[in-house]
Amino acid sequence: MVYCGHQMTQVALETPLFEVVGARSPSLRRLEKMGIKTVGDLLRHFPTRYEDFTKVYAIDDLEPGQQATIHGTVEETRTRHSWRRNMSIVEATITDESGSIRAIWFNQPYVANTLKTGREANFSGKASVSDEGEIYLNNPTYELVRMRPRGDGEQEFSHTGRLVPIYPETQGLTSRGIRFVTQQLFKRRPAFKEWIPPKILEELRFPPLAQAIHDIHFPGTIEEAAAARARFSFEDLFLLQLITLQEKMKLATERAPAMEVDIEWVKHILAALPFELTVSQKKSLWEIIQDMERPHPMNRLLQGDVGSGKTIVAALAALIAARNGFQTAFMAPTEILARQHFETMKALFSRIGSADPHDRMPVLGLLTAGSAVIHYDEHVESRTTKADFHDRTAAGEVAIIFGTHALIQKSASFKKLGFVVIDEQHRFGVSQRAELLTKKTADPGADTDTETQAAGQEAARMTSPHFLSMSATPIPRTLMLSVFGDLDLSLITELPSGRKEIKTKIVAPLERSASYRFIREEIRDGRQAFVICPRIDPAEEDEEGTAPKARTSSAFTALELKSVKEEFEKLSKKIFPDLRIAMLHGQMKAKEKEEVMKKFKDREFDILVSTSVVEVGVDIPNATIMMIEGAERFGLAQLYQFRGRVGRGEHQSYCFLMTDSTAHAAHARLNAILEAKNGFELAEKDLALRGPGQFFGQVQTGLPDVAMDALRDPELVKRSREAAIKILSIDPQLKKNAPLKKKLAEFRAKLHRE
Ligand code: ADP
Ligand code: MG
Repeated sequence: MVYCGHQMTQVALETPLFEVVGARSPSLRRLEKMGIKTVGDLLRHFPTRYEDFTKVYAIDDLEPGQQATIHGTVEETRTRHSWRRNMSIVEATITDESGSIRAIWFNQPYVANTLKTGREANFSGKASVSDEGEIYLNNPTYELVRMRPRGDGEQEFSHTGRLVPIYPETQGLTSRGIRFVTQQLFKRRPAFKEWIPPKILEELRFPPLAQAIHDIHFPGTIEEAAAARARFSFEDLFLLQLITLQEKMKLATERAPAMEVDIEWVKHILAALPFELTVSQKKSLWEIIQDMERPHPMNRLLQGDVGSGKTIVAALAALIAARNGFQTAFMAPTEILARQHFETMKALFSRIGSADPHDRMPVLGLLTAGSAVIHYDEHVESRTTKADFHDRTAAGEVAIIFGTHALIQKSASFKKLGFVVIDEQHRFGVSQRAELLTKKTADPGADTDTETQAAGQEAARMTSPHFLSMSATPIPRTLMLSVFGDLDLSLITELPSGRKEIKTKIVAPLERSASYRFIREEIRDGRQAFVICPRIDPAEEDEEGTAPKARTSSAFTALELKSVKEEFEKLSKKIFPDLRIAMLHGQMKAKEKEEVMKKFKDREFDILVSTSVVEVGVDIPNATIMMIEGAERFGLAQLYQFRGRVGRGEHQSYCFLMTDSTAHAAHARLNAILEAKNGFELAEKDLALRGPGQFFGQVQTGLPDVAMDALRDPELVKRSREAAIKILSIDPQLKKNAPLKKKLAEFRAKLHRE
């Protein structure tokens, strides 16, 4: 009997599974391997679909090919061994009032132990036809009818005669096994605490928690299953909306330095630029300025296609902050990019400064793993120690500090941090941003002896910096609304005029040498080329097939490294022995990377063979060729980013998508790149082609799964947002909704861990 020896205490979602199934159950170990450790985990392991065995047929009515359930008595069971096929065969004859039928199981000798003569059972499966024209059941699922009714009403079947749940299965644990354990759980009448406010449940017609959990596993009808599923999809979206909305409300009450902006001065600066800003650059800058003038923190995302000119917009905003006496932390995902921004800004400010010598330009600082540089003006730049750099920053001497994303989290302290810019931050989940915003005042500065300083600190603690993130990753609108709902959005919708379209071609193995000839010609004309090496999935290389564990990021890096080295060898020894070729990968020291990039920029190399390190932001206008090996292995967003590395100067540029895949799907995807006019269009296309997870490539974005799910159901996103607004407008602190508040705290903690 299933629960002999166990106490019939009520179980809760937190109850460890071993208390329910017994510590020695073999299923327990398999479940734990799948990360299923508590009752809640198991009940959250939802079926992927249901087999419809609802209708019980009379044996005589069975039609060939039909999926059906019959209910009958076992007449006799025989076991034999087929020597020819080397397998055991169990055969049973089953009868009901209408007739009898044969059922066969291969290699499941234990079936004979259960299906003893005289036992009554349900059998669900396919009615097959033998060579002799006889209808029989092939490998049916069966479920015994209890001999003595247990007094708790009608027997609920799990495997037959109903909608039978089919689970995502793994090594050795079948759907039947999972159903068995799940069914046991329900017998223990688990207690589930509802946390969605009843009003919302009612309005959206969602089943209460306990019912939803039951119905998603053992629904009476498909409609019940669908209602339960809708509730669960809603749950996380709803929580996410609550978080972003609360964040937004909180920001609105927080204080930030209100910057003063002299529009005449801004115009004067714009006039000194080497080019005229595009209309949407101007519009975005204007939106940012308006935010910075307010005494509450800006929280804005500047989104614009690769090459649309986001940097200059952020640079101008940083200049405004500096003019108001506030410091800016300008962060990039890689040191290469941080250095590039530093260099760009030096050139830009020197130009603006020389247009009007009275306009003092801010002091710039670059902090990387390898170096600390302070740039006072065109004539004075000093390399210094990190300690000294920090001292000067803490003293407020450096106005705009460039570094990687680690800049603000780790060591830097600021005297008056007023503005934070994060470039190419597609990984900004809710949690990271929250972390950033709390870090802002964690380091208020030097020692705290005197009262005035303490008071100053208090004041500093009271204000948060304005916050601007920039991304070229086209995030579809639905996702924008759900995951980044607390962000305001500025869009750069056009490229600077005069850009030429990047000619893009999918290159099959036969055309490879032609592309090499083409590259050679371009280089002869003075241009440069990138060659990006494929991201190899370690699982593919894994001969023993021990799979998922090997897919760590370090395994990725190792293989990427291998492919970059091989490509470098091939190109520099065989294909282009006469050209200057360099290699770039993530395992090089920061200093080496910077060196290589600098030399490439200075045209000391013709070809740069690289991993995806160059994916974001790098600006080398003289490079006109982007060759991507194993293109089908990258996400479309990533390919798009790679391509954006060229076509930045006056020369016609080219992108070669190298693939030896002949799969239709791979080509359809690559074709999308050829056809899409911009990143947004591409995002929508890829979403349609491959679903949300794939769009961002193999390496995940840090977006929570819910964000991915949200993409599939815009309507549900809308409803979750409306529900969250409704609740918060009545009860902003959720004081009257204690269970929801508790659930939200747990969800928040989970997001932070991810
Ligand atoms: P992204 O938006 O991808 O970060 P960048 O800010 O790196 O793009 O800009 C790409 C290039 O375009 C840079 O070389 C920059 O100087 C140039 N650029 C930016 N705005 C304009 C403009 N309005 N007109 C011409 N060139 C521009
Ligand atoms: Mg950029």
